[in-house]
Amino acid sequence: MNDLSAPRPNNLDAFWMPYTDNKHFKANPRMLYRAEGMSYFTPEGREVLDGTAGLWCCNAGHGRREITEAIQKQAALMDFAPTFNMGHPIAFEAAARVAEMTPDGMDRVFFTNSGSESADTALKIALAYHKARGQSSRVRLIGRERGYHGVGFGGMSVGGIGANRKQFSALLPYVDHLPHTHQPAKNAFTRGQPEHGAELADVLESLVALHGAETIAAVMVEPVAGSTGVLVPPKGYLERLRAICDKHGILLIYDEVITGFGRLGTNFGAERLGVVPDIMTMAKGLTNAAVPMGAVAVREGVYDAIVNGMPGGIELFHGYTYSGHPLASAAAIATLELHRSEDLPGRARAIEPYWQEAVHSLRGLPNVIDTRDIGLIGAVELSPREGKPTERALAIFRRCFDTGVLVRVTGDIVALSPPLIIEKHHVDRLINTLGDAITAEA
Ligand code: PLP
Repeated sequence: MNDLSAPRPNNLDAFWMPYTDNKHFKANPRMLYRAEGMSYFTPEGREVLDGTAGLWCCNAGHGRREITEAIQKQAALMDFAPTFNMGHPIAFEAAARVAEMTPDGMDRVFFTNSGSESADTALKIALAYHKARGQSSRVRLIGRERGYHGVGFGGMSVGGIGANRKQFSALLPYVDHLPHTHQPAKNAFTRGQPEHGAELADVLESLVALHGAETIAAVMVEPVAGSTGVLVPPKGYLERLRAICDKHGILLIYDEVITGFGRLGTNFGAERLGVVPDIMTMAKGLTNAAVPMGAVAVREGVYDAIVNGMPGGIELFHGYTYSGHPLASAAAIATLELHRSEDLPGRARAIEPYWQEAVHSLRGLPNVIDTRDIGLIGAVELSPREGKPTERALAIFRRCFDTGVLVRVTGDIVALSPPLIIEKHHVDRLINTLGDAITAEA
């Protein structure tokens, strides 16, 4: 019998890796084999401190016994059952647990398998909502530059990342974008929410004037944009967006895929930032990433219009074979129980001042042109190497990995999002290692 516990040489050819320079990776592989608490371990047994909670998702830390046992128990009881015109109790319980955490009144939950599916689901719900209310002309979707809503055609079209769009021509036709809110000239080295930029939300009024409110279904934004380098919303920005949406009957969708489940020191970004949307997407931290799962929560009125507005039959022609999958539901329930019993958002809140100080201590190192933070998120923006954008940050990423710390880079920005169980000595190690790498790559 094969010894599956032993690291083995890998044939790297077959796996077409996502969002990866495949040729470079396969020539210089970086493997992770095991994970526990705040750390990954390589096949050789080298420990790597996780500064990114995997991909913004293992918020409760790695290898949580409670989650593993819940998955094992459910797998032994029932591996799979459909949720199309059938049900299994654990999916309903998982939805109820999510609804307990979402803002008041956002208590209807649709399950997906990823953030991308959640984005497309949310957009479809928005279109179905207006149609159910007799406003079929509301088909336009407004996103924001530098927004990331995954890789489905809906999320990609509403997303605002050029590189994600230009390889594919079949984008949704009725889409427009708000400007992003990153203004380093005014806001560099801000702690928490920047002072400048609330007025950028007013561009929505211009888009309404241009297209007509009667053509616009929804605006979709991340409360804090993560994938494009940690863009924290300026003070007052989300409030203005909410007010303009309300004025014109436009739905406001938050993509809470990374801001959900304690990342900002509250259950969701909506709570921390004080502005509640009509629809919100989530994934990642929902199951601590132990089993893929996403979800969309909606206001009662959105559910009512679509579900109770129909005389009978299927109300929403949408769903996934694995919506509410038993193993994912078990993982979600166990994860949300850990959030409650260990008060993970509270832990994030408690360490935030120390975290903030540490992130901003990198100011003054060579090529550091901005440091920013909110909740347990941090970012360091670097000036690019002349004629070689992204190279400096990539070199820093590799140097950090080789010296035992995992960070994430996007463009010339290093983004940090550690598990919420991080302690002060981990923060020190993470920031010191990153600082050394920044200095070494000057
Ligand atoms: N939305 C946001 C804000 C994200 O950060 C991500 C992934 O990073 C997604 C959507 C896509 O999620 P997934 O990769 O699970 O499809």
